[in-house]
Amino acid sequence: MHAESAASQEMRIKGLAVSQGIAIGPAFPFGSGIQDVRPHEVAAAEVEAEVQRLTQAIENAKSELTRIGEETQERLGERSAEIFEVHILILDDPEIRGAAIRRIREERLNAEWLFLQVVEKYEQSFSHFKDEYMRARATDLQDVKRRVIRQLQGAAKSPGDGLPGPAVVFAADLMPSETIHLRRDYVLGFATELGSRTSHAAILARSLKVPSVVGLGPVCQYLVPGTPVILDGYSGQLILNPAPETLERYEKTRSLYEALSHKLARSRTLPARTKDGKDIELSANIEFFEEVQPAIADGAIGVGLYRTEYLFLMRDELPTEEEQYAEYVRIIDALHRQPIIFRTFDLGGDKAQRHFHVHQEANPFLGYRGVRLYSEREEVFRMQLRAILRASVRGRVRILIPMISSVAEMRFCRGVLESVKEELRAAAIPFDEEIPVGAMIEVPSAAVSADLIARECDFLSIGTNDLIQYTLAVDRSNRYVDQMYRAFSPSVLRLIRDTIHHGHAQGVWVGMCGEMASDPLATMALIGMGLDEFSVSPVSLLVIKDIIRRVHFDECENLAERVLSYSTADEVENYLSSVFRRKFRDLIIHDPNHPLVRREQN
Ligand code: PEP
Ligand code: MG
Repeated sequence: MHAESAASQEMRIKGLAVSQGIAIGPAFPFGSGIQDVRPHEVAAAEVEAEVQRLTQAIENAKSELTRIGEETQERLGERSAEIFEVHILILDDPEIRGAAIRRIREERLNAEWLFLQVVEKYEQSFSHFKDEYMRARATDLQDVKRRVIRQLQGAAKSPGDGLPGPAVVFAADLMPSETIHLRRDYVLGFATELGSRTSHAAILARSLKVPSVVGLGPVCQYLVPGTPVILDGYSGQLILNPAPETLERYEKTRSLYEALSHKLARSRTLPARTKDGKDIELSANIEFFEEVQPAIADGAIGVGLYRTEYLFLMRDELPTEEEQYAEYVRIIDALHRQPIIFRTFDLGGDKAQRHFHVHQEANPFLGYRGVRLYSEREEVFRMQLRAILRASVRGRVRILIPMISSVAEMRFCRGVLESVKEELRAAAIPFDEEIPVGAMIEVPSAAVSADLIARECDFLSIGTNDLIQYTLAVDRSNRYVDQMYRAFSPSVLRLIRDTIHHGHAQGVWVGMCGEMASDPLATMALIGMGLDEFSVSPVSLLVIKDIIRRVHFDECENLAERVLSYSTADEVENYLSSVFRRKFRDLIIHDPNHPLVRREQN
C-alpha cells in the first residue's frame, strides 16, 4: 500500500481495544518528523560515548523491527513481513553504519546529524533510479532513518510534542513514561503498532480517558500526517479515510455512548449500595493529581490505588522527600478527608527503573520488581515512607505494598515502617500513628497463603493484572498470548475467592484494584464472593456503581457459587454474558462493537 491510496480510500485495520471511546480526527504519526535534527559538536572525550549511543540506537531500532516483523508475519503472512527484514538488513549494512561511526570520530558531531547525512546520501541516489523497485528502497531508507533518529532522540521527544492541533497519535509502541506526557487536551486517541491490554501504557490510557487501540501492526509508515481516521476503542477498529456514511454511523454511536454516560451520571452522588442494603466501597485508581477531582466528581469515595511510581517515572532524578511530600499533600488535600491508598513505588517489569542500578533481565516481570527493590535500596523506600507518613496527618492515608510474595517481605516492610516512625517521633514530626498497612495480593504464593499474610496486615488488595499473569504464566504485555490471559479462568477465580475468605477469617477487609474490578461482567460475581472494596479505572466508576445499585447481595452469592462451579473460562464468560444481557440490556449500546457483544463473538 502507498500513502496515496491511504489518502483516499476507506481502509480498516483491526487491533486490540484497550481504552474505551471513539476518537475522530486527523492522524499524527509520532516520530515521523525529524526536522529538528541539528548538528552540534561533541567534546573529544565524549566521542566514543556518541559512537556507543548510535550503536545502541541502531540495535534498539533493530529489535523494534524484529518485533513488528514477527507480529506482521503472524497477522498478515510472511510476504508482508519481508519488508522488515529489508529494513534490518539496511541497519546491518556495514557501509551505512561504518560511515556514520567514522564520521562521528572524524568530524566530532552528534550521532543524529551524521546518521541523517549518511542515510540521506543513499536515499537521494536511490530516488533517482528509473526502476520502481530501486526507488522503493529510498522509502525504506527513510523509514529506517526515522526509526534510528527517534531512538536517538529517545525520551527527549514524547508523543504529542509538536502536535499541530487535536489529533489521533500513532506510534510504534508507547512506554508508560511516554504515555504520561500525552497532552490530554490535544491527544484525541492513541494507536500503536505493538502493545497489549494490560500493559501499563494501556492502563494509563484508560486513566487518562483517551480512546486507544494497540497491536495494529505496521501502520505508521502508511500514514500521511493529517489523514482522517476513526479510532474505535470499543472494538479495536482503526478506520483510515472513513467514507461519509461510516463517519455518520460512528458519530451516532459516539452520541449513544455519551447519552448513556449522562444517564449513569445521575447516580454519581448516590451510595454504591446493593438493593438489599450492602455497602460496597467504590474508589478509583489514579496515577496523577489531575485525576483526583474528576474521579470524586464521578462518585468515587476515595482512591483505592495511587500508583506512586509514576512520580518516579516522570523525572530523570529520584524525587526528593520534599518533592514527594508536596505532591502527596496536594493529592490528600484534594480528597477532603476521603481515604487514599498509597501504593509504595512498584518499579521494574514494564516500568523502567532508570533510577536504580539496572540489571539486564531476561524476564523482568519475574525479576527485580516492586518490594524486591526495597531491601537493596532501603534508603529510597525509607524516604518515600517518611514523605507518606508526614503527609498522613492531613487526611485518611493507607499504605499498600506491591508484589508481596511472602510473609518475610511483609515483615521486612513493617520493620522499616516502624523504624521510620521512630525517627519521626524522635524529631517530633507528627504522623498518623494508626496508619493502616496492606499487602497487594498479586502473586499466586501470596494468594495461597493469604491467611498468613493477612495476619501481618490491616487489609488486602487483590491485583488481578499481575495475579492473572502469574497464575496462568501469561505475560500481561505480550500480545501473542493475549488470548490466554483470562480473568475468568477457574484457577484465578478460586484464588480470588480464597483470598477474600482468608482475609475475612483474619478480620481484615479485602479489596481489588486490578482491572478486573472495572469489568462490568465481573461485578456481580465479586460482590457475591464478598469483596469489600472495588477500586476501578475512573472511566468505569459510573457503570460499576450502576450495577451494584441494581442487584441483591443474595442473588450475587448464588451467581458466584455457580460461576465457581464451572470448569473453563469460556463457560464462566458465557454464563455471565447471558445474565448481563438479561439484567443490564440498557447498558449495552446496540452496536456490534460493544465489548460484551464482541466477547461473545470471539
Ligand atoms: C495489578 O497488578 O492488578 C495492579 C493493580 O498493579 P499494576 O497493574 O500496577 O501492576
Ligand atoms: Mg501489579
